[in-house]
Amino acid sequence: MDSQDVQSDLKHVLYTKEQIQTRVAELAAQIDADYEGRDVLLVGVLKGAVMIMADLSRALHSHVTMDWMAVSSYGSGTQSSGVVRILKDLETDLMGKHVLIVEDIIDSGLTLSWLKANLISRGPASVEICTLLRKPAAAKVEIDVKYVGYEIPSEFVVGYGLDFAERYRNLDFIGTLAPHIYE
Ligand code: 5GP
Ligand code: MG
Ligand code: MG
Repeated sequence: MDSQDVQSDLKHVLYTKEQIQTRVAELAAQIDADYEGRDVLLVGVLKGAVMIMADLSRALHSHVTMDWMAVSSYGSGTQSSGVVRILKDLETDLMGKHVLIVEDIIDSGLTLSWLKANLISRGPASVEICTLLRKPAAAKVEIDVKYVGYEIPSEFVVGYGLDFAERYRNLDFIGTLAPHIYE
């Protein structure tokens, strides 16, 4: 793959940097109001949630601590199977904590529904989910997601933490790839 300008790999911009910042600030205000000054443990799911975690945490006024998990969902290519393996576990004891899982995107919801059940089994006071993007058309499992940035159609998106073959995570906007990249 040649290292041309990243912009030429993209088809269109779905959400600009400014739109994302505005929406993340709205989510943060909602979270602050709901937790009413209680401490929140933000659990970011690596690697995709790095950008939303950085921006959301800085927009919050509540006391927060942060921890990270890395999971891999078995499956071929872009399809997740719901069979999940923990690659990196939390360092924090969840007992009695208010946990907010921070995700980049929910597609089938299989990974997250497994993750939520796994965290609940560790005895926290509460577990909620915040995701920047959700693809409702693909939902295979009932999962209660309290904070959703944007509902998007079932199209593959990159940027703002989201990758294609590990590229494009560093874009400060969210866009779709030009067909010549994945065809
Ligand atoms: P699921 O909800 O199907 O279990 O899997 C969600 C994961 O699939 C996300 O965390 C992300 O890694 C990947 N994923 C799903 N849809 C997209 C997409 O449109 N773009 C990118 N870059 N990753 C996606
Ligand atoms: Mg993710
Ligand atoms: Mg990925």
